Amino acid sequence: MLHRWRQWRAKRFIARHPFPQQAWQEVRSNLPLIEALDDEAAKRLGLRAWYLLHRKRLSIPEGHDVDLPTRLGLFAQASLLTLGWSDADAEDAFANVHEVLLLPDVFRRRASAMDDAGVIHEYPDERIGETWYQGPVVLSLVDVMESGDWSGFNVIIHEFAHKLDMGNSQEAEGFPPLPADMSASVWHRVFSAVWDDLQEHLARGKNPPIDDYAASDPGECFAVCCEYFFTAPQVLVRAYPELYSLLEHYFQQSPLKRLTPTGQPDHSGDVDQTRERSGGFESGHF
Ligand SMILES: [Zn+2]
Repeated sequence: MLHRWRQWRAKRFIARHPFPQQAWQEVRSNLPLIEALDDEAAKRLGLRAWYLLHRKRLSIPEGHDVDLPTRLGLFAQASLLTLGWSDADAEDAFANVHEVLLLPDVFRRRASAMDDAGVIHEYPDERIGETWYQGPVVLSLVDVMESGDWSGFNVIIHEFAHKLDMGNSQEAEGFPPLPADMSASVWHRVFSAVWDDLQEHLARGKNPPIDDYAASDPGECFAVCCEYFFTAPQVLVRAYPELYSLLEHYFQQSPLKRLTPTGQPDHSGDVDQTRERSGGFESGHF
């Protein structure tokens, strides 16, 4: 019954809001992550992105013109996370997203941290995105425009991964709701091994194989691993093959097969591990 109701609603939606074919073609040719999809997957993604664009409030900074391909491309990248799931599961996964708030560029927040002596220091923190439980997904427009390729960097996927993570709690703690056929203890074991490896690299003064922002917090570990899974799978599968397989199972898709026809890691396309922006500083997500 629910299934038929959803079908009826989807039909009615598309009758009222005809799908923008031309804008979608632009998205497909402009964003390498989307271009790599086969026609069937691209069609499913396009419809879901179009649906989200109407269902979620998108706030655009004053004086900025964000055209339809950009808006559609933003929700298409968010929908990559749920592409392998049924329409119903995909919709439920982002039920906690009410608004996407675009800010022109990197933004500042006051943050605080405790030093070794137990003194709390406040400092201005520069961010390119942040996500709060029951709050908007906040994204820097400059960084949205830089997302969409196979670089290992994608602020949209990162922040929407936090929303998935918050599907079962108010905090993003690296433990999203799992499907019935996945074991929570396996999830915990695989992520803990990655976490320990990241900490070990840092303790030895070495660069970890993925962005060290993943080592800052288990929630960030999940979000950064999602960025790599979707936009630099060849790096993730080489660094942490068991984690790659776990995410392949969880997301019900394999971006590596989209990147390389053989589905094998292609070392020629390795990404630069530094994610410094043109401004010369490294901006955190949250
Ligand atoms: Zn984050």
